[in-house]
Amino acid sequence: MQITFCGAARQVTGSMHLLTLDNGYKILLDCGLDYEQKKNFHYSPPNSFPFDPASIDVVILSHAHIDHSGNLPNLVRQGFGGRIICTPATSELSYHLLLDSARIQDHDYRKNRRKKIQTPKPLYTEKNVKQTVAQFKTVPFHKPYAIAPGVTLTFGIAGHLLGAAFVQLKINEGGKEKSLVFTGDWGRANAPLLKDPESLPECDVLISESTYGGRLHRPNIDPEAELLEFVTSTCVTQRGKLIIPAFSVGRTQSIVYTLNKLARKGLLPDVKVFVDSPLAIKSTNIYSSYRNDLNAETAEFAHSFNDLFNFPNLQLIEDQSDNFLLDNYFEPCVIVSAAGMVEGGRIQTHIANHISNNYATILIAGFCSPGTLGHDLLQGRQTITVKGRPMAVYARIASTDAFSSHADANGLCFAISENNTKTRKTCLVHGDEGNMNELSVLLKKNGVSDIFIPNRGDCVNI
Ligand SMILES: [Zn+2]
Repeated sequence: MQITFCGAARQVTGSMHLLTLDNGYKILLDCGLDYEQKKNFHYSPPNSFPFDPASIDVVILSHAHIDHSGNLPNLVRQGFGGRIICTPATSELSYHLLLDSARIQDHDYRKNRRKKIQTPKPLYTEKNVKQTVAQFKTVPFHKPYAIAPGVTLTFGIAGHLLGAAFVQLKINEGGKEKSLVFTGDWGRANAPLLKDPESLPECDVLISESTYGGRLHRPNIDPEAELLEFVTSTCVTQRGKLIIPAFSVGRTQSIVYTLNKLARKGLLPDVKVFVDSPLAIKSTNIYSSYRNDLNAETAEFAHSFNDLFNFPNLQLIEDQSDNFLLDNYFEPCVIVSAAGMVEGGRIQTHIANHISNNYATILIAGFCSPGTLGHDLLQGRQTITVKGRPMAVYARIASTDAFSSHADANGLCFAISENNTKTRKTCLVHGDEGNMNELSVLLKKNGVSDIFIPNRGDCVNI
C-alpha cells in the first residue's frame, strides 16, 4: 500500500492523507479545511483535491474539528459517493460544525459581494452538508469493523474532543497483514470532561500529529483554580468583565463545566456567565447526551447534580437579537463566545466593546495562529483593528493553557514511543516545522528511530 500526504504536511490545518492499497482501493483519512494556505480556498473547485473525489472508496474521519472534517462537503459535491466512517458523537458534532462552516462561507461571500470585493464562491452549501451527513456511517469505539475485504478498522480513544478517535487499520495484502495507526489529534491526560487517551497499539506505520511537539504545558495545572483566579481578580476585585474567546466545540464545554463545578462548590463569585454562541449551545447538548464517552469524574458529577453544564447564573444567548441584553448589561460578568482565535464570530463584538476598558480582561484560552486577532493580542499590541476600526488596547490581555486539548511534547513522546517497534515508521504531520523538528529530536532520544516529516504530496510505500 501507499500513503500520500495530501494535507497538514509541515503545517497544522487541512488534515488529509490518502491510502491506496495494492488492489487500488482508496481510503481517505480525514478531509479538513486548510486555514494556513488560504489560497487553496480560492482555487476553482475542481482543483481543490490532488485526486479525483469520485475515485475515493471510503473516508475515515478522526474527529469533528473543521481542520479535519471541513472539506468533506466539497468532496461530496465533487463526486464522492462512499461512506464516511466516524464515531457516533463525531457524526453529530460534525453536522453542526459543517452547517456552521457553510453559513460562514455564504455570509462572507455575500458581504464581499456587497462591498464589490471579488471573491470565490463558497466551497459548499447547507444542501451539500446534508448530503454529506447522509453518507456518515457510525462505528463505536473499540468495535472492529470490516470496511472492505481484508481491511479492518478499529477506533480507539484519543481524548482531545468528544468522539475523537485514533484510527487503527489492519490490512491484509497478499496474505500478509500490515497495520497503520493514525492519531488524529491527541489529547492530554486529566483534561476536563474527556477520557484520557488510550495507549497506541503496535503498528507498521504511525501517522502522528505534532501540534505542540516543541512545547510543554505547565505541570499540574488546576483548571478550577486558574479560572477562579481570573473571575475573582476581574469581576470582584476590578468590578470588570472577563471575556473568554473560546472554540464553540470542546473548549466552551470545558470552561462552562469548570465554572459549574466552582458554582456547585460555592466558590464561584455571584456574577452572571453568558455563553454567546448558538453552535456552542448545540454542542453542549451533544456533550450532555454522550455521558458514556466522558470520563469517570464527569460521570460522578452528573450522577450527583444531574446536569454537567447548568448553574443558576448561567445565561445562554442563542438568538443574535438577544445580544442587546448583553450590550446593555453593565455589571461585572463572564462572557464566553466564539471564535477562539478571535477571528470572526460574535466574540469580535465583545472585544470591540471592551478592549479599551481598563477593568476588562481578555483571557485567551487556546492556540492562536499567526495573523489572527488573538495572536495580535497575545503579542502585546497597543492598538488593534476590530471590525475595520483601530482601537487602543487598555484591557488586560491574559492567556491560559489550562484548557488546551492537545498533548504537549512529553505527552506526544510518551504516546509515540510507548509501543514503538524497531521496524515501525513514524510520520509526523499536523504541526509547524519547528514543532515537528523538536519532537523528532525528543523521539530519537527516546528510541524512535525511523521518523519521516513529509512535504505535501510525498508518498510512503509500506
Ligand atoms: Zn482537533
